[in-house]
Amino acid sequence: MHLHVFAGNPLDRGDTYRRDQKWLDEQALNPRSRFLPLWQLNVLIQTEQETRLGWVSPADITRLNIDVPPVFLGLSDGVAHFAIDVSQLGDSRHELNLEESWRFEEGRAAATCLSSAETGILAQSRAQLDWHRRHQFCSVCGQRTVQGRGGHVRKCPACKAEHFPRTDPVAIMVVSDGERCLLGQSRGRLARTGAYSALAGFMDQGECIEEAVRREVKEEAGIEVGQVRYHSSQPWPFPSSLMIGCHARALTTDIHKDDGEMTDVRWFPRAEVLAALRGEHPHLRVPAPIAIAHHLIKAWAVGDVRWE
Ligand SMILES: [Zn+2]
Repeated sequence: MHLHVFAGNPLDRGDTYRRDQKWLDEQALNPRSRFLPLWQLNVLIQTEQETRLGWVSPADITRLNIDVPPVFLGLSDGVAHFAIDVSQLGDSRHELNLEESWRFEEGRAAATCLSSAETGILAQSRAQLDWHRRHQFCSVCGQRTVQGRGGHVRKCPACKAEHFPRTDPVAIMVVSDGERCLLGQSRGRLARTGAYSALAGFMDQGECIEEAVRREVKEEAGIEVGQVRYHSSQPWPFPSSLMIGCHARALTTDIHKDDGEMTDVRWFPRAEVLAALRGEHPHLRVPAPIAIAHHLIKAWAVGDVRWE
């Protein structure tokens, strides 16, 4: 099993507990409970010996008078864990009375130094708090919604609609014609870094994974794809994607790229890709191990794709 960064969350999400508002209220004040503050979606970390998530106590949170409810993440050894959006604080470091070794860090940067389990908690916290920030109003009638089930639902008091946290599936695929693989550079961040990555795109409604892979590759590169094999998946909480990693076999080789979306799409020979993965290629750069793309590219390059 491939466990990527942002997967491997050890918390028990406690579905039966989270339906009990009285229990949630008690746990939010229980001195044993732990709170993970996020400020402007940056997560609190501490870097004393190793880097860890910066859990604080209920007392640290209650004295701040934050007027947004915490999100219940789950339980570990019977201890309730919450995430809370403290973005309304002006000087968050000062108001939380943090020591020098504690700071708010951007999610990707934090994930590169946290344990695998803690990156899973970070993913859940960031995606949930971001969803609540963006879904304050009912998409049916426009009234203000209220949080329920510790954050797993927002309810509309006016029209009674229930809104649930969303996850957006993205198909990401390494296409090969045998000894070469197809990598691209999309407009935006990748083009600025000069790196090449696996092609990817949001799945459409009414589409299965294999169909999404074939459509995206056809749209972005003009390549026809035959066989598609699922490899692994990765939560990507920026803001709420699920990356569904696949390998695919090309039926054609002539590239006709989508100029609107891609600055470049090319076939790269296996030896060049292996050199890039080792960081030894003179100019080809591929994504770092934090991203599923790295592992999809590597699995293909070392011949670790099972087609049957
Ligand atoms: Zn409504």
